[in-house]
Amino acid sequence: MKPLTNNPILKTFLVLLILIMNTGISSAQESKKRLPIIDVHVHAMKANPNFASEMCPWFLKDMPGSGPNQEAPSFINTNCVAPLKPAKSDKEMQEAILRANKELNITMVVSGDADVIHKWHSAAPNHIIPSLGISNPEQMTVAAFKDSLSNGFYKVMGEVAPQYQGMSPSDMSLDAYFGVAEELGIPVGIHMGTGGNGMANISSPKYRASLGQPFLLEDMLARHPKLKIWVMHAGYPMVDQMIALMGANAYVYVDLAGFIWSYPLEEIHAYLKRLVQAGFAKRILYGTDLMVWPELLETSIGVIENANYLSEEQKRDILFNNAVRFLNLDASKFE
Ligand SMILES: [Zn+2]
Repeated sequence: MKPLTNNPILKTFLVLLILIMNTGISSAQESKKRLPIIDVHVHAMKANPNFASEMCPWFLKDMPGSGPNQEAPSFINTNCVAPLKPAKSDKEMQEAILRANKELNITMVVSGDADVIHKWHSAAPNHIIPSLGISNPEQMTVAAFKDSLSNGFYKVMGEVAPQYQGMSPSDMSLDAYFGVAEELGIPVGIHMGTGGNGMANISSPKYRASLGQPFLLEDMLARHPKLKIWVMHAGYPMVDQMIALMGANAYVYVDLAGFIWSYPLEEIHAYLKRLVQAGFAKRILYGTDLMVWPELLETSIGVIENANYLSEEQKRDILFNNAVRFLNLDASKFE
């Protein structure tokens, strides 16, 4: 009998089999070794059927006008080939979050519904960093706020969004809360800038575009010289003020959340490129503003990965290293 390996058909088959097995092994190793990502801007919310529509990324590439007696501009556009699907229940959302923690190796700073945050955190304590938001003094007294931050569960203060209340971030009614964060060494995320198309007409009559100007942070920062803040949404579209503010205040960082999947792609890249070009690649944090569409995580990571003007090192800084430094995390815990 001839040895089996002399049979040319069998030989080809074996070679193919080995090739397939090797590819399988190396892709398994790759998925194990996925580099860690920190998303500093995730919202935990209870599933809400009114807010559970499909969504097309970069939907603000078309912002048609409307009028007071016409139909209100739609906040989200679903006119694309593959709109992202919303999670339909709390359970579905939590499963998607846990999958992203594990498979995409994402650690998230999460603010919003306290019950939801607690559930996610107990399911994945190493991947969920709880954040406590406050945007006006009616929500919580300063003493209660200090209590909550002191018990150790919350590591971050945010999303602070006075702009939606028609208030400047330097408004004195918020000052004592920032004082607490400064005293406890808690980093703070403040919404500045972007609000989509027709925010003041649709849902937030008190919203003022002018209250998103990064310069409005200066008085507050001067009163709290040890406070570390990041400007959520990078003060979009006020890049000149953003650059000037970061130049004057070395503890100020920005995140890219929200605008990286809603505004036109070219516009996003022009904005991000400008910040990097101005020398701030070490001060940009990756964030999504994830609400109900889990696939937004991959969509948003893709924007950074495809930015051909960024070096590999800059991409890793934005996706991970800058957040480790800003949030005082231990990088070795992510290995
Ligand atoms: Zn925001």
